[in-house]
Amino acid sequence: MTTDAPFAFAEPGADCGLCPRLVSFRETNRSALPGGHNAPVPAFGPLDAALLIVGLAPGLHGANRTGRPFTGDWAGDMLYPALIRHGFAVGTYCESADDGLRLNNCRISNAVRCVPPQNKPTTPEIAACRDFLVREIAAMPRLRAVLCLGRVAHDSAVRLFGERAAATPFSHGAVHRLAQRGLRLYDSYHCSRYNTNTGVLTEPMFDAVFARIADDLRAN
Ligand code: SF4
Repeated sequence: MTTDAPFAFAEPGADCGLCPRLVSFRETNRSALPGGHNAPVPAFGPLDAALLIVGLAPGLHGANRTGRPFTGDWAGDMLYPALIRHGFAVGTYCESADDGLRLNNCRISNAVRCVPPQNKPTTPEIAACRDFLVREIAAMPRLRAVLCLGRVAHDSAVRLFGERAAATPFSHGAVHRLAQRGLRLYDSYHCSRYNTNTGVLTEPMFDAVFARIADDLRAN
């Protein structure tokens, strides 16, 4: 099991004001959904992990409510059991930030840390929050693999790592070798309710992505 110490990364404050539209939505949600997290959702998992999973953004009734990425909605029901099956998480996922689940050699973050209306962040919002992702990745000295869930996360990561977009297209199951730090970037369709209900992403497809990552991490 890995731990957070001694590496450091400063998450945005609860009232980060860099994205005015998301700040306004946050204030609306603090009134409409009292008792929820309703703030930027910090990443989950140790900074000395080898695998970083990058999602899109917190779900309104999932991470935005519980305060932990992918926790409390459909996407977490798909993601956390897959992580447990492949050894990247230990414990039982109970749709709550205090369920005691631990991530093993894995960390989960988002391209955008505040919940966006209709789950759709704008390009400037993605760019603003990318600065936090840049610093987070810089604070992960043992990072070897980045798994992007969906095209928005993929595009933000490709830009972050300075890769050419045309040479690094998003495709489910793709593995891209990055110039920076010898990292591998893996792509998967996002484990959203829409993608899983429509069969765009099935459990075997998702499992194959994690099996490949686990194999690669074991191999070198
Ligand atoms: Fe700040 Fe990121 Fe939230 Fe924008 S999305 S307000 S940059 S934490």
